[in-house]
Amino acid sequence: MATLTFLGATGTVTGSKYLFEHRDSSILVDCGLFQGLKELRLRNWMPLKINVHELGAVVLTHAHIDHTGYLPRLIKQGYNKAIYCTEATRGLLQIMLLDSAHLQEEDAKYANKRGTSKHKPALPLYSMEDAKQTIKLLKGIPYDTPFRPSPDIMMSFRDAGHILGSAFVIGRWDESGQERKIVFSGDLGRYERPILKDPSVILDTDYLLVESTYGKRLHNQGNPEEEIKRIVQDTYKRRGVVVIPAFSVGRTQELLYTLRELESAGEIPVLPVYVDSPMAIKATKLYAKHTEIYDKDAARLREQGIDVLQTARTEFTESVDASKRINASQDPCIIISASGMLTGGRILHHLIRRLPSPKNTIVFVGYQAVGTRGRALQNGKDKIKIHGMQIKSAAKIETINEFSAHADYREILSWLKQYKKAPKNTFIIHGEPDASINLQKLIKEELGWNTHIPQYQEKVRLD
Ligand SMILES: [Zn+2]
Repeated sequence: MATLTFLGATGTVTGSKYLFEHRDSSILVDCGLFQGLKELRLRNWMPLKINVHELGAVVLTHAHIDHTGYLPRLIKQGYNKAIYCTEATRGLLQIMLLDSAHLQEEDAKYANKRGTSKHKPALPLYSMEDAKQTIKLLKGIPYDTPFRPSPDIMMSFRDAGHILGSAFVIGRWDESGQERKIVFSGDLGRYERPILKDPSVILDTDYLLVESTYGKRLHNQGNPEEEIKRIVQDTYKRRGVVVIPAFSVGRTQELLYTLRELESAGEIPVLPVYVDSPMAIKATKLYAKHTEIYDKDAARLREQGIDVLQTARTEFTESVDASKRINASQDPCIIISASGMLTGGRILHHLIRRLPSPKNTIVFVGYQAVGTRGRALQNGKDKIKIHGMQIKSAAKIETINEFSAHADYREILSWLKQYKKAPKNTFIIHGEPDASINLQKLIKEELGWNTHIPQYQEKVRLD
């Protein structure tokens, strides 16, 4: 009989890892890094409760590090078989795993310099070399194309509409002559967002894993396009600069798409738009290449020969020198740079230059975690520390929340309501405890389904 063990994303939104076992087959779906609280991060250092040498395959829902960032650690422990993912996810991981390894190495270096680690010397969780080995094992599979990662199970990917390459992983196996089916939602995307398609409709399954990041929250009903328009217009009137700290994958491309739409409709002036993050530039190239993920609107524009990811005056500033040259600009412009929470990266030198002037606007389009510079600015702090200097905050601070890539609970329920019959069991994962509990309550009230919120390392039977 098949079993499923929950090795992450229980009671939290990070560390996604699910071990599916059936007869001689053992498959890990997602291999995410724990992030956030120290208690969770320490789990990345503990031995994984899997015999890595018996593991037959790894299958990934999408490229985000909380779903893939543990892979190089798995490879370090001796895993050397295939890692299946969509073609676009493979492309993204070539960028993101190296970046993750770089951050791990930087953390270790920092701990050694400061003497903050018990271990002497502090070692990285994994190295660039481990990440390079991981990338070699990635196997790209197109959407809707069955593949057999292990003798006892067939799998396939369906578009989840969350980020480039994101997928629902569907597994099918035989249980005493009867076919059984499981759906792993990964992260569920949203409806009617720019570029990406809506999440695919699935009609039936025996077992379902559904994420609950926004199990207790609804996105604002406001229109992010309108908000961007207002902010660009206002800042332009003050002859100021709009600085947008953005996550490189997903958010940056949605912004470019939205700015292009507004510009071509004459709703905002044509301004220089700088995309100033090497990772964002690489990710944008992948979005331009993988047009199979485009929704109808984006596909139609593309057929008309329009590059949906470029405004009239977009400049991709690859080199450090080109990035620094933006500082010289006195005229209104838009700067999109990383990191999204101002924890590092090129965005910092733009803040040093632009934050002290009331003419400029800093626009947050993503979640700002507690303790970050981004959160401090959102909370109205009048100065923040960057590179040892106190930088005065006089610029206008704005936040647009609607750019989230996760479905809220209404959207999750809409997706579930498309199933023609109730799964035997629905496992609610990938949420803070109160979010998962709230989604469980809503599913019971509105659908009457059987659900379960699994505990860390819990093993369930799929009979
Ligand atoms: Zn995600």
